[in-house]
Amino acid sequence: MRGYRNGVGLTTNGEEQVMVEEAKAEIYTRYPLSSVLIYNGVTILHFLLGGIGIIHGYGFSWAGYLLGYLYLAFSFVQMYLIMPFTVCPNCAYYTMKDSLCTSGINLISKKIAREGDPRAFPKRAQGLFCHNNLYMAALFAPIIAIIPALILNFSFFLLFILLALIGLLLFRFFVIFARIACLHCSAKYECPNAEPTGVRNM
Ligand code: SF4
Repeated sequence: MRGYRNGVGLTTNGEEQVMVEEAKAEIYTRYPLSSVLIYNGVTILHFLLGGIGIIHGYGFSWAGYLLGYLYLAFSFVQMYLIMPFTVCPNCAYYTMKDSLCTSGINLISKKIAREGDPRAFPKRAQGLFCHNNLYMAALFAPIIAIIPALILNFSFFLLFILLALIGLLLFRFFVIFARIACLHCSAKYECPNAEPTGVRNM
């Protein structure tokens, strides 16, 4: 948690001076259960609303069902299968004893994937089909798909889903990443995702 530390120092002429120093955010080896639940709750809600929005937006047609189910499969697979196989084995939480990362997926990864190389962790953001791009695609795809559907086939329910998805996206970027997850992450100095959020200096 953030806070302030007080200390006493000496000035050049020997006088005591009270220094107020800003403390760094605590780094977790085990995130609190509440963080894990918020992270996964928001993620699963985003994917489910996205799938429902696509199916509803395209009029419950065969194409809508196909796109919606494909989206649901893609979003869950990239998150709970591709990530533990490709990203987590290189993450600090994989090797840390008794650790629990913010998504809890390090526990899945330890069961299904071999330990990787921490120096390869930044690869999560390199290349067109890197996991970061898949992750972003899963978050943005339903928003992009629902906007034209809303124009063609307006309903307040669809509008509500679109606004909820945008709200979840903003909550992820400005609260989950910036305050709940990356701020307290042991991997934030190696992880390319932590740089734009500015959490390395906090
Ligand atoms: S810094 Fe953020 S994105 Fe990177 S591993 Fe940690 S929690 Fe995940």
